[in-house]
Amino acid sequence: MNLELKGKKVRHCSYGEGVITEFYERSLIIRIRCDNQPERPYAFPDDFDSGILLAEDSELIEFIAEFKKSVRYRLQASKTFGSMTPNKDVMKFFKESCEILDDLKIRYGTVAGVRVIDPNPEFFGLCRHTKDDVHLIDICSDVLADDIRDHDVYTIILHELIHTCDGGIKHNKKFREYGSLIERFYGYTIYSRIRLLCYKPIVLSSQKG
Ligand SMILES: [Zn+2]
Repeated sequence: MNLELKGKKVRHCSYGEGVITEFYERSLIIRIRCDNQPERPYAFPDDFDSGILLAEDSELIEFIAEFKKSVRYRLQASKTFGSMTPNKDVMKFFKESCEILDDLKIRYGTVAGVRVIDPNPEFFGLCRHTKDDVHLIDICSDVLADDIRDHDVYTIILHELIHTCDGGIKHNKKFREYGSLIERFYGYTIYSRIRLLCYKPIVLSSQKG
């Protein structure tokens, strides 16, 4: 179980040859870079099972098979990148996002409520700072749809949670600093601009006021 995955070659179903650049065992995420493509996160080992990624290296094939038998995998599999929880409970995702920030010793502000709102073409999540120094987080209901990967829900909620941190209200240096910490230790990429996420273009929360 101690195989060094970094540097191992894999094949991507659309992008061809790629190489593993990171493996976050804790969040079951693997990062792959393919030729002429930006580095991207994938679910480990789920994306090998689904055929998005193909392992050709015999050591890697063996590692994947062993990994799937491990207790860690069975315990964590329910909350991996690749899984989709039907009828997502926003508070479950919110609590787990708070635990991630706690673990990384990132202090977030008081959140008075997390509200699920109707889909909005402008954003998927929004964080508002009220006069009383509390924050209100809005998450669009389409983020919680059955066909959205849990991983993408976390990236959206974590993004809003960073906005509650001291100095993190805008997409500034502090915001990016927290974002890269989360990415480094948990593999969730915190976007601050229009990106392809959940297979549709979105704008993540434009903070006002
Ligand atoms: Zn934002």
